[in-house]
Amino acid sequence: MICYPADVNEQEILAVNDYWAFSTGTISGFRYTIDRIDRYYRSDDVRRTRPVSVLARKSSFVGDHPAFECSSCRKKIPAENRQDYIKKTRIYAHGVCPPCLEAQMKELHDDARETLRGFLEVELQPEPYLASLDIIDTLSLLTILTEYSNDGPFIASSPDDLIITGIDAVDRALFSSLCSKGALTYISELPVEVSRANSVLFGELDRLTYLRGARGGGAVYRPEGAVSKGVYLNPLDLDGVIHSSGLESVFFQRLQEIQCSEAEDSGVRRIIHQVQLMKLYALVQDVAAEHRLEVAPSNKLRSLLEHLANNYPPLNVHFCFRVKAREVVIYLHTDNPPQYRVKHLFAKFVGDYIQQIESKGWDLKKIWTIPPSVEASPFEALFSRLFLDEDFNWDRLSAQKVFSTWQDRCGLRTVEGGMTIGDDAGL
Ligand SMILES: [Zn+2]
Repeated sequence: MICYPADVNEQEILAVNDYWAFSTGTISGFRYTIDRIDRYYRSDDVRRTRPVSVLARKSSFVGDHPAFECSSCRKKIPAENRQDYIKKTRIYAHGVCPPCLEAQMKELHDDARETLRGFLEVELQPEPYLASLDIIDTLSLLTILTEYSNDGPFIASSPDDLIITGIDAVDRALFSSLCSKGALTYISELPVEVSRANSVLFGELDRLTYLRGARGGGAVYRPEGAVSKGVYLNPLDLDGVIHSSGLESVFFQRLQEIQCSEAEDSGVRRIIHQVQLMKLYALVQDVAAEHRLEVAPSNKLRSLLEHLANNYPPLNVHFCFRVKAREVVIYLHTDNPPQYRVKHLFAKFVGDYIQQIESKGWDLKKIWTIPPSVEASPFEALFSRLFLDEDFNWDRLSAQKVFSTWQDRCGLRTVEGGMTIGDDAGL
């Protein structure tokens, strides 16, 4: 069925008829080319019609094919031109008119959004976990919220991307403690219907660009509202009231009220010690690389670094490392010691020096900046902001000093301290 423009003359009707004449004998499936129709009706001497392409744009065609009828409301869907006709008959098994298509898409999107919402609602159950949080859990949660601030409950793509202290073993333990208490949930797999709902709403998430250079190697760009695998913060059930946002202030409050047990006290001490120890290991690597020195990760080095981490600020230890590394290099050139001793020389030079100054009651006075590769962990930054008035990281403090400063303020304390941690943090 052909629909003609209102203003056609008889010749133009014939031209439009020729435009829509089919033939099984041609490659295109149409009997005449547009050029041929124009040549016939618009020869140089007689211009009986307007160009057929103009007429075709104003006409339309409804073929004997399900693609030309809306499967939903049964309205006819005409083809606008030959390309449109070919497309409809080749691609669509049945037709849908634009209003019905819009309604169908809306329904599809609504369903998809409902699928995602329902999935998260089941996975992220409100839990009354606040009372079970000890001081380390609470500090970890605050670190996470500060470092991975998001509007929604999504925190990180995987537990490996969740950096709290920066020490893998410690962070894994903190993560599982928070999961077991119901504060965090790890969604490791997405059901098929959730992936499908994501792609209905946002296209293929797998093809999204990975943003390099973020913490943990690669942060993934997530469209707002998409549900991806990863670590999530659970809503908090607080005496029957569900809190899923603004939890920082709740955790700060908890931090002020928490009664620190002896076990927690030593837990905090252990974390501080490990963070400082890791820094010293990183400094050894840095100094060794710069001086092209081989340094064996021996037990002797470990106990030396543990001692240094406890008693000296990393800035001062760094200066000492650099001086001793230079001395080792000079020694290697002048004394040519046997090969098996070379990799132990650094620990020996530093160890001997420390013993010497300690027996004389001296101190490590001079400092050397910490290189950018040795970054303060998120935990350290938050801890400093909360408890160390003068210092924004632990580079100027020994582990001992960090711990005692903290203990003065909150370790094994009674509740009546009138602390204003939240105010200090500016939150
Ligand atoms: Zn329809």
